[in-house]
Order: sequence, then structure tokens, then C-alpha cells
Amino acid sequence: MQKIAHSANDLRKSLAEVRGRIERAAARAGRSLSEITLVAVSKTHTAEVLRQAIEAGASDFGENRVQEAESKIKEIGRSHARWHLIGHLQANKARRAVQLFDVLHSLDSLELARRLDRISVEEGRGEFPVMIQVDLAGEATKSGASESELPEIIDAVKGCERLRLIGLMVLPPFFEEAEQARPFFRRLRQLRDAFQMKGAFGERAGELSMGMSHDFEIAIEEGATFVRVGTAIFGARGF
Ligand SMILES: *Cc1c(COP(=O)(O)O)cnc(C)c1O
Repeated sequence: MQKIAHSANDLRKSLAEVRGRIERAAARAGRSLSEITLVAVSKTHTAEVLRQAIEAGASDFGENRVQEAESKIKEIGRSHARWHLIGHLQANKARRAVQLFDVLHSLDSLELARRLDRISVEEGRGEFPVMIQVDLAGEATKSGASESELPEIIDAVKGCERLRLIGLMVLPPFFEEAEQARPFFRRLRQLRDAFQMKGAFGERAGELSMGMSHDFEIAIEEGATFVRVGTAIFGARGF
């Protein structure tokens, strides 16, 4: 078990380490660092820890529960960090999500897209960037849209006034051997490329949100533009 990193100094060290690993993976893949955003996954950690992380240079936080994130976002504010919702969003939390988050990584149904768009209009929200989470392993226990549902969800977002589709996200099954996640990352990139050709992301290339603490280097080699890293930055979560 890794020690929990909670001081700004600890966090500076772990962030530098993760950034170094990102840099080397990008170099191996001949990619530019500027196209990769590190999302520090801060679930289970307190607002105080997040404040230390900001001091240590973190700018993007990932939270997987609206309720848990709410108090932290209110304490820290929207201007000091960008807030990414990376977990399944229940319909009854949609309004809070529209009010609190900058980016949604886990859009997984057409109904949710329409609801979020309607609420964004009601709330006077400008634009809501979203990614669709794709369940590539067909895991019944996990959220995410199946590949076959993708075209209709993409169409639905296209018809939305405020939602803007910026990319795709995947959370592969957990493998002891990180290399085994590679085919999932590769598949997501293929899907991104195919939908990009059809104009799904407008003029943009389309983001790929993929890779966590134990496999983000492989995800970067396969094209990740957002990596969602928790444990490698903050240490083990106390469940
Ligand atoms: C918790 C979580 C992560 C980060 O996992 P680590 O292994 O701690 O890096 C990334 N993505 C999602 C969707 C998560 O829920």
C-alpha cells in the first residue's frame, strides 16, 4: 500500500513523478505533451487535501460522485480548478452536475443527454462539454454505453442546444497486468477516429479519456488526451 500523500510537499513530489511518467510515455509515442491533460482523481480526499494539491500545481480534479464532490467544489470554488465528473451520473443528480461540473466524462445514455441539455438551458448554462463512456467489455456491472448505442447517442447530442460532444471515455476491466488494457484503449481510439470522420466532434479531433494509475502510460501510447489518475498522486484511498 502506498502512503497517503497529503502535504503540499508530498503532492508536489507525486505530481512531478506522474508528470515525468506522462512525459516519457508521450516521448515514446512521439506525441506532444500539450495534448495530454492530467486529471487528478480526488474522490475520497478532503477539500483540504485538494487545496494542497492546487498549491502543488494540480488544475483538474476528477470526482465520481456528485454528492461527495459538491461540498468540495463549493469550498474550493470553480475558478481555482476545473472539475470533471468521471462516474456514473444518476438522473436525479443531473441538475447538480450541470451546476457544479466543467466536463462530464461519463455520458452513457440518450435520455441522460436530453435531460442534461434541457437542464443546461433551464440553468442558463452556456456550453456543457461531454464525453461518452463506452463499455467495451460488455460488463453488466459497469456503466457506459455499448458500441452499438453510440451512433444514436452521438446523434442525440448533435441535436442538443448546450451539450457539446468532445470525445469518448473508457474504463476497462481491471487487469493485474496493465498491458492487457491496451486492446481496449486501441479500440476506443479506432471508434474515436471513425466518429471523427463522420463529424461527431465538429472541427475537433475528439478527446480520449483513458488510463488510470496503473495503466496511464499504455493509454498515452494509444492516444489518451485525458488521463484520470488518483492513487499514484494521492496514495491509497481509505475505503
Ligand atoms: C477512481 C477512478 C480513477 C482513478 O483510479 P486510480 O487507480 O486511483 O488512478 C479513474 N477513473 C475513474 C472512472 C475512477 O472512478
